Amino acid sequence: MTTRARAYDATVTARERLSPHLVRLTLDGLDGFASTGLPDEWIGLVVPGQFQSRYYTVRSWNPSTGSGRAGGTLVLDVVVHEVGLVTEWASRDVVGDTVVITEAKGSFVLPPDARWLLLVGDLTAMPAMARIVETHPELATQIWAEVPDDLAGYLPDGADVTWLDPPGEGCSRLAEVVEAIDWPDGDGYFWMAGESAQMRAIRKHLMRGRRLATSAYDVMGYWRGVKERQPRAVDPGPIWRAGKAAGKTDEEIWADYDRARDE
Ligand SMILES: Cc1cc2nc3c(=O)[nH]c(=O)nc-3n(C[C@H](O)[C@H](O)[C@H](O)COP(=O)(O)OP(=O)(O)OC[C@H]3O[C@@H](n4cnc5c(N)ncnc54)[C@H](O)[C@@H]3O)c2cc1C
Repeated sequence: MTTRARAYDATVTARERLSPHLVRLTLDGLDGFASTGLPDEWIGLVVPGQFQSRYYTVRSWNPSTGSGRAGGTLVLDVVVHEVGLVTEWASRDVVGDTVVITEAKGSFVLPPDARWLLLVGDLTAMPAMARIVETHPELATQIWAEVPDDLAGYLPDGADVTWLDPPGEGCSRLAEVVEAIDWPDGDGYFWMAGESAQMRAIRKHLMRGRRLATSAYDVMGYWRGVKERQPRAVDPGPIWRAGKAAGKTDEEIWADYDRARDE
């Protein structure tokens, strides 16, 4: 069995600046690509002239139907921050560029008895939070979004959103925010993504402070707040598959992923 992810070629057909730090890219092509259907699904993106990938949430995927061709249209919302491989590429006019996308993976699995959702994240988590709300309009959903831009209108209607200002560029205080949340009664699901150190702190809080079962939450480190350019990104896909094969919980798998990136 190979752990190498399948890869698909795509062409950037549109680029739209949604806000000062968020760029929407529309990609066409992806012959043979399939969605997992999970609302937090991600792909690896390799931009021209690079071999390293960076991971992005599938904001939407529309397979071509009736056109007689395979493939479809994939939308990614990319954060443009201070400096970074994809950041620098996406800051330019990239329409017409050819990129490589790896197969989709997702980890959002709602317990069957969940009646509410708590979603917490920074700008990188906005695409997943938007898709989760779209996928589960039946659940009472509260969101805490720590974003530097005015993104009113980005999230689908229906959720109760608390907008938070980040304490500074590349900084987050989401761990502190989560510790102060007034937890709803009954069964539900907690989902959170953002800067890795904040996520590690929250895992401890959920396990030791709130004593939540690992099936009741999913907390993912999406990026590391270190100043130098990251030498490599670790593909969550093989870690995910190996963890699932070993019978690990989502939580244990994401902790393995954090450890792999710290090595
Ligand atoms: C499963 C998953 C889903 C993700 N979904 C999305 C998504 O939909 N949209 C999205 O924009 N990102 C998403 N991310 C996060 C994204 O992969 C990282 O932010 C990535 O490092 C960005 O690559 P880069 O080439 O711009 O910067 P890199 O070259 O990787 O990093 C350069 C420097 O920038 C810093 N840095 C990296 N990201 C940020 C940031 N967001 N803010 C401030 N500083 C940063 C790093 O500390 C590093 O020092 C996701 C990550 C994962 C694991």
